[in-house]
Amino acid sequence: MSQNNFFSMNRSSDMMIDLKSLTPREMDLFCTRTLGQRAGQGTRVAVRLYRKKIEDIDSMADLNKPFRDQLKRACTISALAIKQRSTSDDGTQKLLYQLDDGNTIEGVLIPGPGGRLTLCVSSQVGCASGCGFCLTGSSGLVRNLTVSELVNQVFAAWSIVGDKTISNIVLMGTGEPLSNYEAVRTFIEIATDRNGMGFSPRKVTLSTCGLAPMIEKLADDGVEVSLAVSLNAVTDEMRDTMMPVNKTYPLARLMQAVRYYCDKTGRTVTIEYVLFKGINDSTNDVKLLMELLKDLPCMINILLFNPFPGSSFDRPDEQRAFFFRDTLVNNGYVAVVRNSRGRDIHAACGQLRAASSRD
Ligand code: SF4
Repeated sequence: MSQNNFFSMNRSSDMMIDLKSLTPREMDLFCTRTLGQRAGQGTRVAVRLYRKKIEDIDSMADLNKPFRDQLKRACTISALAIKQRSTSDDGTQKLLYQLDDGNTIEGVLIPGPGGRLTLCVSSQVGCASGCGFCLTGSSGLVRNLTVSELVNQVFAAWSIVGDKTISNIVLMGTGEPLSNYEAVRTFIEIATDRNGMGFSPRKVTLSTCGLAPMIEKLADDGVEVSLAVSLNAVTDEMRDTMMPVNKTYPLARLMQAVRYYCDKTGRTVTIEYVLFKGINDSTNDVKLLMELLKDLPCMINILLFNPFPGSSFDRPDEQRAFFFRDTLVNNGYVAVVRNSRGRDIHAACGQLRAASSRD
């Protein structure tokens, strides 16, 4: 929420501010400018909410009572219910969140080696990007998620992990994060601010299907996040058939934006390449991939397509993924084969869906 919005909302006193919609910086401004508190008081609220996970103002017992009463009159703290949980044979959990307007979205908790626990966060109800290999893309966009709904996916996941720690966040659930830019940017600030959730920016990854101007904006705005680009094709002809975004931002324009991002931020980007049998998995395709990524500071994730009912692509053999990886590595690229987790419960990449309240 922009600062002007939350100050004017409070002045009109017809709406309460949801604290989970504010970054620590905004919370401090709100407490000083609107509630008349001294600087730093809002930051204390942010630390109690986001770091200590205290979701009840009365339980922030070390804040003085008049301040807590003032907060209760002006603010709420929203929550998100988990409607359903399914657990995969490999320990991956798919979470179905119930939104206030009746829509639902999905998220995934993915355990990894060394105690790693990754939360996959959705950014929209549905998605307008229409990627042909993605179940979400087949249902269209219903609406953007709010900052609170993004933040609350983390809180809801925290509530079920017990003494385990969520170590990584990936914005790879339903939706195109860069199509919901302002809310996603605010969420990333909350996630990575040391007075917020305190995740390292290296542990928060935003994945995009390739909105070139928004990739450049991300760099220009200095958003502290790791970037992943879902590439999946090495010619425009090929990419046009699977990712409609390519008709607006063809490969040359996308790679220009990705190179700009790397130059401006000094960061390495992750390139996701999903293999589709007989479409993009040939020896010539891996050669073209190397040409496309030449001298780009990147790491390449090779994945195998996860089919879903009605999908028109096939999954290649695992050997194809290892062939791609070995070819890339032998030519000096950094590449790994990523195993999709949670396939048996339809929690793997491309298998998530959002349900509209109209469904
Ligand atoms: Fe949208 Fe991502 Fe699915 Fe493409 S892959 S349709 S961007 S959710």
